[in-house]
Amino acid sequence: MSQVRVRFAPSPTGFFHIGSARTALFNWLYARHTGGTFILRIEDTDKERNSEEFLNVIYGSLNWLGMNWDEGPKIGGAFGPYRQSERGHIYAEYLEKLKAAGRTYEKDGAIWFKLLGDRHEVFDEHRKKTVTKVKVAASVIDDQIRGRVERVEDEDFVIVRSDGNPVFHFVNVVDDIAMQITHVIRGADHLPNTSKHVELFKAFGVPMPTFAHIPLILKENGPGKMSKRDQGALIEEYQKRGFLPEALMNFLCLLGWNPGDDREKMPIVDVIRLFDLPGVNQSDARFDAKKLAHMNMTYLLELPAEGFVARAKEFFQKQPTGAAALADENYFREVMLLAQPKIKGFEELPAYTGYFFTEDFSIDAKVREKVMGKGEPKVRLAELIELIKTADLSSDAGIEEALKTLAASKGLGFGDYQSVARLAVSGTNVGPSITGMFRVLGRERVLARLGRLVAG
Ligand code: GLU
Repeated sequence: MSQVRVRFAPSPTGFFHIGSARTALFNWLYARHTGGTFILRIEDTDKERNSEEFLNVIYGSLNWLGMNWDEGPKIGGAFGPYRQSERGHIYAEYLEKLKAAGRTYEKDGAIWFKLLGDRHEVFDEHRKKTVTKVKVAASVIDDQIRGRVERVEDEDFVIVRSDGNPVFHFVNVVDDIAMQITHVIRGADHLPNTSKHVELFKAFGVPMPTFAHIPLILKENGPGKMSKRDQGALIEEYQKRGFLPEALMNFLCLLGWNPGDDREKMPIVDVIRLFDLPGVNQSDARFDAKKLAHMNMTYLLELPAEGFVARAKEFFQKQPTGAAALADENYFREVMLLAQPKIKGFEELPAYTGYFFTEDFSIDAKVREKVMGKGEPKVRLAELIELIKTADLSSDAGIEEALKTLAASKGLGFGDYQSVARLAVSGTNVGPSITGMFRVLGRERVLARLGRLVAG
């Protein structure tokens, strides 16, 4: 096992979104690539804004996506507890170290971190007040993704608020030290914080972790970073909609990383083998909902039949129409196999296959008008009924042959029967092949439906 220890450190202040998932993923990939340890640490010191609900969404989404953590809440580990709200004693201990080193002072009820260097007062035009600047040498950060980054921290900052709560910068660094984190992999939006963090690491007299700031994910349309309020941002939504987690993971891998060639669909084991921090892009990535939908469809198409059916079953179990659809397992399986090559995502399944599971399906009025308004549809339906009464419905090819023979004997085409048959059995003009529908629906249902359209 390597010494690499990385952490994903979300604050449970909002639903788990694409950006958080991608940060978690790059940490997880790096840990798996190096044989290191992936730690989940919950940064929940901001009591007002944190909620248990958000926390459960984080756990649920990570589990769903398959990003298992090696240390963290629920499973523990040698460096716990893993929720900052339970680590007060550790922060107190580290605060003592800074105090003992003369690196803190109190002002306005808060505890400040003292920078080392010459001080002078200047009037800050922007903030309209006099501030104390400290002459501190720039920190050079050898960022694994962005290269050499120079930052200067030139003002003391609060590390414990007047209400007694320690500030993010302080607990973040203390935990990275206490948990022996070797690589800090996080969003580029944290780059401006890094100078504060570097000063704290120095004050504690410990070696700096390696930093890697990953590019932002931009909104699909328009400028700016994608936020949890943007359409398509929430991981939970994709789970509800029946996206395949492996497709979403593959999509996330490509937000800021590529294998160095133009491959897009890649099994996660290949990504783990190839992933490395210097391979992550510096430029921002743009969210692309179509690309994600397409990735999902590609994965769906390639699922082995039984895998597709099993996942479709899980999906239907959570739908209002699920019980009806799953009443007959064998029949459900046959219907799903008809749908597999035709749908882009599981979310389309209830509408796409609805009429298979109820006799009370709706008939599209426009399609009905069109189909029933030309030729002699009722004669065709009557002929179909006679045919279906005795035809062998066990194979698509056999059904096709019988329909063609019937059409030829009347001097008509296959299409003249297909449109009216489709309307009768499904109420619409789109769907799987008519022969597949006849085979799966079976004689009894097909006859009943053809009969109803004749009568209606
Ligand atoms: N809690 C911080 C966040 O949610 C994590 C910062 C870090 O990874 O260092 O962005």
